[in-house]
Amino acid sequence: FVSREFKKEDTLIEIKGRKIGGTDLILMAGPCSIENKEMIMDIAKVVKENGGEFLRGGAFKPRTSPYDFQGLGEEGLKYMREACDKYDLVMVTEVMDTRDIELIEKYTDIFQVGARNMQNFSLLKELGKTNKPILLKRGLSATIREFLMAAEYIVAFGNEKVILCERGIRTFEIATRNTVDINGVALLKEKSHLPIIIDASHGTGKKSLVEPVTLGCILAGADGAMVEIHQNPACALSDGEQSLNFQEFEILCKKMKKTLEFK
Ligand code: PEP
Ligand code: MN
Repeated sequence: FVSREFKKEDTLIEIKGRKIGGTDLILMAGPCSIENKEMIMDIAKVVKENGGEFLRGGAFKPRTSPYDFQGLGEEGLKYMREACDKYDLVMVTEVMDTRDIELIEKYTDIFQVGARNMQNFSLLKELGKTNKPILLKRGLSATIREFLMAAEYIVAFGNEKVILCERGIRTFEIATRNTVDINGVALLKEKSHLPIIIDASHGTGKKSLVEPVTLGCILAGADGAMVEIHQNPACALSDGEQSLNFQEFEILCKKMKKTLEFK
């Protein structure tokens, strides 16, 4: 279902009056983790002011160490919903477990499936039965075929609203957190009609690389970007090294708008 052979035209996903795919460029931004109400409110305001339409933040976090901050859970979802309602933004948050779908569905507009769960087939099947868009992140070492087959699971179970997200893969290179597969971005546009966005925050792990890599992938065909931002990245409870501050975010937004003419 997800291949260009099955369907030639680009898939457009509509959510709350916004279109993902086609000639539009979307911008999802927010903190890695929702830390408290005030911080998510401030970030939502900044996202809105810069023309972003999607607020992305984690309440259930997949952390490498069980001793790291795991997210605020439902409390975080509540804060985020409030922020989205106040600033008229579309909410995106991660679901890690089938047991949490019902709860998260009460709050979110879009479900994110993280890289670590790209091949969690029971999760993909259950999300296929919902009717909210799914932001599917590429697995840490998933091939393009495996990535598309994961999307195929969601569509095969009834939900056609899948947004692909390139977030870098593991390679021999350790100078950056991951290696962004720009080939993959261009190839996925060729092979599939689904929209794809770039996450250069996790893709590079380094804030100075977020802007150039985001812009590069947009020129390669990405339909938009997600980016981690924070009012004070040095104090972030997770992923501070790769989060942009508000000023850096503003510059990225301006440059992103200039790439629209290449779409
Ligand atoms: C995230 O988006 O917050 C995240 C944990 O990313 P990934 O699943 O791509 O590692
Ligand atoms: Mn993160």
